[in-house]
Amino acid sequence: MEQPAALQAPMSPIDALRRVCFLLERGRESSYRIDAFRRTIEAITLVGDDELRERVEAGTLKQIKGVGDSSAAIIGQAVLGVVPAYLTTVEEKHGEPLTRDGAELYAALRGDLHAHSNWSDGGSPIEEMVLAAVTLGQEWLALTDHSPRLKVANGLSRERLTDQLARVDAINASLGDSFRLLKGIEVDINLDGSLDQDDDMLDRLEVVTASVHSKLRQPAFEMTPRMLAAVRNPRTNVLGHCTGQLVTGGRGTRPQSQFDAEKVFTACLENDVAVEINSRPERCDPPDELIEIARDLGCLFTIDSDAHAPGQLDMKSLGCARAEQHGIPAERIVTTWPVDDVLTWARG
Ligand SMILES: [Zn+2]
Ligand SMILES: [Zn+2]
Repeated sequence: MEQPAALQAPMSPIDALRRVCFLLERGRESSYRIDAFRRTIEAITLVGDDELRERVEAGTLKQIKGVGDSSAAIIGQAVLGVVPAYLTTVEEKHGEPLTRDGAELYAALRGDLHAHSNWSDGGSPIEEMVLAAVTLGQEWLALTDHSPRLKVANGLSRERLTDQLARVDAINASLGDSFRLLKGIEVDINLDGSLDQDDDMLDRLEVVTASVHSKLRQPAFEMTPRMLAAVRNPRTNVLGHCTGQLVTGGRGTRPQSQFDAEKVFTACLENDVAVEINSRPERCDPPDELIEIARDLGCLFTIDSDAHAPGQLDMKSLGCARAEQHGIPAERIVTTWPVDDVLTWARG
């Protein structure tokens, strides 16, 4: 991956707005403001540059639904060929990389096996997620929206997943060979260890990330077999945020789920399932001691963003810092692999 460069003038209004959103999202600023800018991006996507310029001159930008004061100022300055003042301020606050540790691994990353769009609980359309991944110099991205039982996250029914797969095909067709969007899912691990989507639908996917989202505090004697069943399911490729812990952030904190890590990670090794290093700062999952157990057993890893917005794709730098700290070699990290190798591995 490449550290995203600050934009230089002249830039299009939409590029300026995207850069603002990217930085605010990566900086975990409040989503209220970001959502407004994202709405503006959507609103002006259909408006040509000429019309935007005319509206700037006529002072009628804000008549476009979705364009407010801040957006209008950004658009107006970008149209005039100057770096918008708002963007300069955001660059000063959030323009630096999240960390410089793990820089070698970060540079080696090619993809991501865990990201959400607004089809489930993400904030942005699939296309915006892809665009951000391309801008970061990535080669591939797995779209892993939630599964049906996670209703709070608007999990996808088989019908909606079917529709999404058609959209993924269309996006890939428009991208050509430059980038590959993989068909994926973050599938819930049910209480009995089964996966929360029909087998024939899972078979249509290229990668399956399985995660526990319910009954996180059940005792180890229940959680261990539940996780083992999911890992042993031949359709599972990645074990997502394995402890479910929350260490900081707006949702408060949550303790690690209790399970026999040695047993679960041994099953990951035996079944060629990668252990996810979830890069979100509030998750920071697995914790250090568990990463070391999986490392010493010889497991594969992924460094995933679990992004719910384009700018959050760059949180993988935090996962890289952790992987480096624990001495995990790049070749054991699936997200450094070329997409063909990932597909071969996932097909198992
Ligand atoms: Zn999850
Ligand atoms: Zn997720």
